[in-house]
This record gives sequence, C-alpha cells and structure tokens, in this order.
Amino acid sequence: MNDVAKCGICGEPMPAGEEMFKFHGYSGSCPKPSLPKPGKTQEQIQQQAAQLIADAEAAGMVVTIDLKALQPLAMGNHQMVAEVQPRHPY
Ligand SMILES: [Zn+2]
Repeated sequence: MNDVAKCGICGEPMPAGEEMFKFHGYSGSCPKPSLPKPGKTQEQIQQQAAQLIADAEAAGMVVTIDLKALQPLAMGNHQMVAEVQPRHPY
C-alpha cells in the first residue's frame, strides 16, 4: 500500500489523520499555492471518459475503473484505479 492522500487544492500530501478530507484546512492552510490548473467540469470529464471508451474499443481493449477504499475507511475516502486489458472475444 502506497496510498498518500493529496490535497485537492495544492496537491501536497495530506498529514496523517487528515486523509479523510480532500483539502488542507483541518491542520492549517495549504503549504503551497493552489494548483495552476483548475479542475475540469463534470461534463469535460464525462467527454474524456467517452473518448477513452471509444479509443479502447477501437484498439480492442477493455478499460475498467474501480473505486478502491483507502484507510481510514470513511465516506468518500477512496481512489480510482484504472485497468486496461485486451478484450477477449468471449
Ligand atoms: Zn492543501
């Protein structure tokens, strides 16, 4: 296990005990300035996902994205894990 929760604002690894939150704030303000890129909109991510699926299908691959629970177990404390495999014809 090598999962370090990162702050959604500055991208710094979160201190122990604060992994259940998405941002710094519990232990103080972010040690770094905000990430330069603002996040994409849900619609943009959805479009990218559709494109990813189309690319995978064109290449004969199957993409699965799972949610893996992180410690400590808490609502929203998980990370996405993508897997790419060749598509079997059965
Ligand atoms: Zn931060």
